Amino acid sequence: MACGLGEPSAEDCAIAHWCPKLGARREANRQWRADCPVPGCGARRALEFDAPGSHVRWKSFCGVHDNEAVRPYLVRLIGPCMPSGRREVVTRAELEALALSGLPPQALKTQMLLSAGMTIAEAFDKLGVDRSMRYKVRGMLLAFHHKTAGRAG
Ligand SMILES: [Zn+2]
Ligand SMILES: [Zn+2]
Repeated sequence: MACGLGEPSAEDCAIAHWCPKLGARREANRQWRADCPVPGCGARRALEFDAPGSHVRWKSFCGVHDNEAVRPYLVRLIGPCMPSGRREVVTRAELEALALSGLPPQALKTQMLLSAGMTIAEAFDKLGVDRSMRYKVRGMLLAFHHKTAGRAG
């Protein structure tokens, strides 16, 4: 369910994959709010997200940055948990980071397929990644995204 990185529901995803990266806070209406993720902006409570279905849903209320402007930064922060992030065009910097990541071949190929628009489950199936290896590969990719997100901005 959800993004395929191990959380059982989109709500768990929001809590485990989104909140820590965005410093988000849950509000009385059960939606989360975070400051605008565009570096140097940080408009307060400008990003809203919730989890009514199988994916985290988000919207920008920043006066300067609309959804399209915010999306690439969210993708960088949230990584493969971004439902629409998987459709993003891969940047040169991301390719470079991937090439220099030191990820083992299976994780590298999985990430390439994620970048190409597959879900992680589809990528695993396509590559024939062993059930017993999937947990490991996920962990490596999370660590990779954590590192690259930390470097960005
Ligand atoms: Zn997730
Ligand atoms: Zn902004």
